[in-house]
Amino acid sequence: MTYPGTILKAFQLFAKKELGQNFLADPNMAKHIVAVARISSDDVVLEIGPGLGALTVHLAEKAKKIYAVEKDHRLIQHLKNELAAADVSNVEVLNQDIFRFNIDTVASPENKLVVLGNLPYNISSQVLFKLVENRSYVSRAVLMFQKELAERICAPPGSRTYGRLSAVMQYCSTVKILTGVSSSLFFPKPDVESTVIEVDFFDRQEISYDKEVFLFKVIKAAFSKRRKTLKNSLTGEELAISRENVEKGLNEANIDPSRRAETLTVDEFKMLCEALYPLRA
Ligand code: SAM
Repeated sequence: MTYPGTILKAFQLFAKKELGQNFLADPNMAKHIVAVARISSDDVVLEIGPGLGALTVHLAEKAKKIYAVEKDHRLIQHLKNELAAADVSNVEVLNQDIFRFNIDTVASPENKLVVLGNLPYNISSQVLFKLVENRSYVSRAVLMFQKELAERICAPPGSRTYGRLSAVMQYCSTVKILTGVSSSLFFPKPDVESTVIEVDFFDRQEISYDKEVFLFKVIKAAFSKRRKTLKNSLTGEELAISRENVEKGLNEANIDPSRRAETLTVDEFKMLCEALYPLRA
């Protein structure tokens, strides 16, 4: 692996902040991340933001095939050079924005992908929502996030950091922290520490698509006013349900209307969704 700073300097490139370009510059950590990701020779991997290939070259040794989706056209040739130097032939480099990329063009419910990525901090949550929407094509994801976000995603109900993303992710997957990554291992060095997590999506889809969309709205509304009680946070434009019906739904779901969102388990959110769904205006 060529040190990212060397490539950038040699080709007079600069790391783009808006694309979250902090490149992993430590081959041992790259190997470690791929090892904890438990990639097998049957896995087809979608790598989001391969950059200069720090993780890609090690992934290629383990996976059957890799689709490497990189938005920055300036990096594509350098990435291909790195892969060629490592004698890698099972990587398809795609110069695309992940938000314009249709996952169903490279996967199916019978042939699901493993997603892997050291994600730009500014698109982390959006990427998670994209994966949740496309989870019939994704078995699991191994993703590097800013440490605080990773901890929030994995936080249990009742804890200070349990929030919207924790509830949404824990509704559809098992999440766990795999390893921490020091900021000193990147070039340029970011201001924050990183953490790699695994998101193991459940096979089952428990509720209909429409109800799931509504469940996500309930979770969003409940956490939008964190300090308010549920009877207040759920009454408002977001759900368009009257105060009277919000209280009715909470009672039906056996949830004290004076509780706050961060105390609700995912099962309670599901019960609340079932109770509120028929009461929508
Ligand atoms: N994986 C490389 C590594 O670990 O060194 C690069 C990681 S860097 C934090 C994030 C990468 O994602 C950059 O290469 C950036 O250009 C790319 N990227 C940013 N936004 C993207 C998007 N919307 N779609 C695809 N790639 C994107």
